[in-house]
Amino acid sequence: MKESFSQKCKEALTALTIRKKCCRYLWDAVLHAEPSDNTDTAAQIRAWGESCRCDACLSVLIRALFVRYGAMTDPQKRYHLEFTFRSEAERNAAAALLENAGFMMHASVRHPANGKEKWILYYKSSGNMEDFLAYIGASAAAFDIMNAKIVKEFRNSVNRQVNCDTANIEKQLEASKKYIDAIRLLTETGAISKLPENLQKTARLRLEYEQVSLAELGNLCEPKVSKSGMKHRMEKLLEYAAGLQAEMPCTPENP
Ligand SMILES: [Zn+2]
Repeated sequence: MKESFSQKCKEALTALTIRKKCCRYLWDAVLHAEPSDNTDTAAQIRAWGESCRCDACLSVLIRALFVRYGAMTDPQKRYHLEFTFRSEAERNAAAALLENAGFMMHASVRHPANGKEKWILYYKSSGNMEDFLAYIGASAAAFDIMNAKIVKEFRNSVNRQVNCDTANIEKQLEASKKYIDAIRLLTETGAISKLPENLQKTARLRLEYEQVSLAELGNLCEPKVSKSGMKHRMEKLLEYAAGLQAEMPCTPENP
């Protein structure tokens, strides 16, 4: 069976060295406590909180609670981290400990169709999850969230870039269309052959490279022509085509 993200994270947490005796005591107490239906686990969680002796005790206690009651989804799929408890009192006792450490988790309750209610504390924001994981020493999992965020942002920026490029190409096509229509008219009527050589060349290039900008088209000319020079030539072609159209007799195609 494939190891879940939670399992991997918990194994890493379990492998961490706990230096101080007071912290080690709490770790063992949480992970070796055997709850039965008779145990008041809420009172037990409160008692653990009261047993904190040094600066590190609370974070080790919360780390142990996470290994025992916690779970986390692979951040590549979605951002979700939670604690699951058997009773509301148990959940509230844990919530109080987490608040002491500065973590205000959301509370909810789950009602499975067949089974007992589950009392939940959870985080769904990547920022909160990162802070929490770093606090309990799950640095690899915190890094995975950071990584997932970077990948997501990169994908979004690539999509934005693609959309932007598409819009630019459409704009260019739209702009060159009126010139292309004019050039086609000049070509089909043979009027193009009466125009100056540089305009004929420009017209041929425009038809050949419909998608490039005027500046790029100017670079394709021999010798090169500036963007404003190209613009000027295009306007000339447009003028000739308009003049030609004015002389043409009215037909259904040329109302
Ligand atoms: Zn300690």
